[in-house]
Amino acid sequence: MSWTSFPKLELHLHLEGAADPAFVRKLADEKRVDIRAAFDEQGNYAYSSFEEFLHVYEVATQALRSPLDFQRLTQSVLENLAEHNVIYAEAFLSPDFCGDRDLVAWREYLAAIQEAHVDGVTLKGIITCIRHFGPDKAKETALCAAETAGDFIVGFGMGGAETVGEQRDFTYSFDMAREAGLRLTTHAGEWRGPQEVRAAIRDLGVERIGHGVRSIEDPSLVKELAETGVVLETNPGSNVALGVYPSWQDHPVAKLRDAGVKVTVSTDDPPFFHTNMSHEFDMLERTFGWGEEDFKALNATALDAAFCGDETKQDISKLLEAT
Ligand SMILES: [Zn+2]
Repeated sequence: MSWTSFPKLELHLHLEGAADPAFVRKLADEKRVDIRAAFDEQGNYAYSSFEEFLHVYEVATQALRSPLDFQRLTQSVLENLAEHNVIYAEAFLSPDFCGDRDLVAWREYLAAIQEAHVDGVTLKGIITCIRHFGPDKAKETALCAAETAGDFIVGFGMGGAETVGEQRDFTYSFDMAREAGLRLTTHAGEWRGPQEVRAAIRDLGVERIGHGVRSIEDPSLVKELAETGVVLETNPGSNVALGVYPSWQDHPVAKLRDAGVKVTVSTDDPPFFHTNMSHEFDMLERTFGWGEEDFKALNATALDAAFCGDETKQDISKLLEAT
């Protein structure tokens, strides 16, 4: 069956990475910015490795230059989420792309992002530093996060190239965010193995891990995750598109779940990976035979792991119960 109308929650979604290629091209044309190199002949984002993906991602963000651009982007992303009945989403927001981590500029971008609205979709923000930009820039990002923490900005995290540096290089920034009351997540266990997931939990004290799928290579870590309840934000379609796993059949999401690990499913950067939440659900059904009860349990895990406040959780819970 098609899962398009089934309600969904998405916890791992990069705002710029969710930008439709057509939307980005239109913005670039308006501003006469030449970003043609980011696209293939069919108009899709063009890359053939993770490093190229990161580069194309950064080129595409060059079309996004003002708070208004980010308001339009957020509006477009919310409309895409509504199409797949995503009723709650947490988006990764990067002050690096919104005024170069200047706090005054960041406040303007954030206000504009919050102007976007689509009925039926609740959006919260997780501010992310970018690992390959280094720890000093991460501190500036963490300051933006700490100063704007509240009802909308609910978490702090880290994305970018997992192969650069160490999780512990960013302890200062994560401590600052934690002290400001923000909940924590970081990308780990996608390009590096289980030791990176261990480092993220030990050195940054995160309660969720972006991806974390390579934990499957260490049975004692899988057991520990199941016991401690650290949540994995898995993105199977992203992992298959980038070659972390050769196919959906090879993806460990079902094995991790069956071992008692709390897993959620998201799209990461959907147009880059030719996916959306309905497609992820369809593939989980087709590959692992997941059905309605599995997806209800997946939603319950995601709601429990969401970084929003209790009031929002109760609202979302009521919406889930009503369907
Ligand atoms: Zn990601």
